Amino acid sequence: MSQERKVAIVTGASRGIGAAVAERLARDGFTIVVNYAGGAAEAETRVQKIKAAGGQAITAQADVADAAAVARMFESAEVAFGGVDVLVNNAGIMTVATIADSDDALFDRQIAVNLKGSFNTMREAAKRLRDGGRIINFSSSVVGLLQPTYGVYAATKAGVEAMTSILAKELRGRNISVNSVAPGPTATGLFLNGKPQDVIDRLAKLAPLERLGTPEDIAASVAFLAGPDGSWINGQTLRANGGII
Ligand code: NDP
Repeated sequence: MSQERKVAIVTGASRGIGAAVAERLARDGFTIVVNYAGGAAEAETRVQKIKAAGGQAITAQADVADAAAVARMFESAEVAFGGVDVLVNNAGIMTVATIADSDDALFDRQIAVNLKGSFNTMREAAKRLRDGGRIINFSSSVVGLLQPTYGVYAATKAGVEAMTSILAKELRGRNISVNSVAPGPTATGLFLNGKPQDVIDRLAKLAPLERLGTPEDIAASVAFLAGPDGSWINGQTLRANGGII
């Protein structure tokens, strides 16, 4: 156990953007809590990779929609490493449908994971983060694009952006910043699964930089906000999207 390293919880770090964030922050010197919901083997692989590169990490299973499980995750991080400095609120799900075709289950689950999940972790972080900490939430550029079929998903992320700016003000006096990253289309399972190649190619060309984002592109934005260069950014949403909006 090192008291010098800052400790970061990265939710949904078993794969996709969260996995890239965990590896990047580990390279930047953070001790990492690799949260996952169902992907135990992938989370363990992530921890082994971080350790093999000389970093420190543990896994922590918790469905972020479950407030008690989130509290237990923070407790286990405090027991293992003495405290928590950074929360990266990356865990999220996306199911697209027109509002007319969105059933209650689609609405309830996205609200539970994306909005309540972000609330659950933010609430714990607000009470427990060490002074000087950072909270980095995940929104999406769909909050600006507002395309058909993204209604419920975009609503969850708009809620996250609103809580980001409000929590930044509520944490006055603790030297804790709260920001969001809002990726555009990024090459992960969440974006790619179920889409025909021609749709992927079309969406990839929408941004003036004419490609999909990579998990590492987004991890770089998170690393900026979590590190010394991001210290004056607070209450903001950073759209990391190649210029799509
Ligand atoms: P992926 O589907 O690739 O990965 C999602 C991760 O979240 C997995 O590690 C998964 O873990 C975890 N997760 C899902 N549900 C829960 C839960 N209830 N509790 C804890 N962990 C959970 O998604 P991305 O990496 O693409 O997305 C990461 C974030 O970025 C999300 O918030 C998403 O909304 C946002 N985003 C993504 C964009 C994209 O184009 N990819 C664009 C804009 C925003 P497990 O396998 O264990 O379930």
